[in-house]
Amino acid sequence: MRSELVDLINFSKSLYGNSDFIPLHEPCFTGDENRLVNECLDSTFVSSVGKFVGQLEKELADFTGVKHVVVTSSGTSALHISLLLAGVESNTEVITQSLSFVATCNAITYCGAEPIFVDVDRKTLGLSADSLSEFLHKYAKIEVGHCINKLTKKTISACVPMHTFGHPCEIDQIKEICNKWSIPLVEDAAESLGSQYKEQYTGTFGLLSAISFNGNKIITAGGGGAILTNDTKLAKRAKHLTTTAKTTHKWELKHDEVGYNYRMPNLNAALLCAQLSQLQFYVDNKRDTASKYSNFCKTNNIELIEEPNNARSNYWLNTLLLDNYDEQQEFLEYANSHGLMSRPAWTLLNELPMFSGCFSMPQITAKFLSKRLVNIPSSVRL
Ligand SMILES: *Cc1c(COP(=O)(O)O)cnc(C)c1O
Repeated sequence: MRSELVDLINFSKSLYGNSDFIPLHEPCFTGDENRLVNECLDSTFVSSVGKFVGQLEKELADFTGVKHVVVTSSGTSALHISLLLAGVESNTEVITQSLSFVATCNAITYCGAEPIFVDVDRKTLGLSADSLSEFLHKYAKIEVGHCINKLTKKTISACVPMHTFGHPCEIDQIKEICNKWSIPLVEDAAESLGSQYKEQYTGTFGLLSAISFNGNKIITAGGGGAILTNDTKLAKRAKHLTTTAKTTHKWELKHDEVGYNYRMPNLNAALLCAQLSQLQFYVDNKRDTASKYSNFCKTNNIELIEEPNNARSNYWLNTLLLDNYDEQQEFLEYANSHGLMSRPAWTLLNELPMFSGCFSMPQITAKFLSKRLVNIPSSVRL
């Protein structure tokens, strides 16, 4: 392996205090977490009702500038409900990217729909506006206000771009294309809370968007998620569907449709209220770490993924683009056996057995990236 890469591994270790094992991303609970969780325990309202759920929803809306937030049990459940509310039904198709976590496609499948994979962009690592446009011009038509796939005759019921590792994708171009083709836009913003595109937070561009609070994300409650939308009616429906579709009544236990138990417990919301008040600090801290990595990489001829044009990334995970597959494998082997956790990007979703039969545009950039990307330690540094 190139000596510069060994130096980078040592540099990363030095950033994290040279401890024996440096994880990729560990949570940080140095704020008000204990106090708020204890307050929640003392109140005994640990479950589906309690003040922290509403407080968190309001604070997340204030932070991101979106009108409505509905918190959920996970990012996956937030995506599932977002897709249902965008109109994703069984026997329809949803356009997405192969370079993503499996939850993106799982949620599409829960709706009975099938993913279509367009390629990703070399700079943003997110869904490529050019590939999306090429797919639609080749294979789609608009029929009575719906976008139809000419090959399968199925409706294209949504498009789900993902902001990979926190870097905003070309979301304004993608939104314009989706509008032109009458395709509802649902953002998978699971990794990008706190990232901005043209000074607007990711997760606020789509008809609906999903955020994750899983243990490895920028803020966490162990697990959890949120649905973001500017549409008041959809927000009401999201709340209803994620809370078992129970009708409001003083004592009657009545449900008016098949809903989901996807609510976030008040206990987790308490923890997240404490986390959210530190989000801006975390973003600044992670951006500082990214600039340290960036300076090191520039002087050592290593390519680090930088935030795209017009974007301000939360730098959730710092990512190297290595020269080739062999170098990627050597790096992973060396780093992981020397106490520095490093991981490649996910196996492309169109290569997983359950999605390998789905339609794919040529995955040229996705394949190129998946053979070369590695994530390196990116936790908040104290
Ligand atoms: C983490 C993540 C999710 C879902 O998160 P969970 O909260 O673990 O269900 C969805 N999509 C992407 C891209 C993610 O990284």
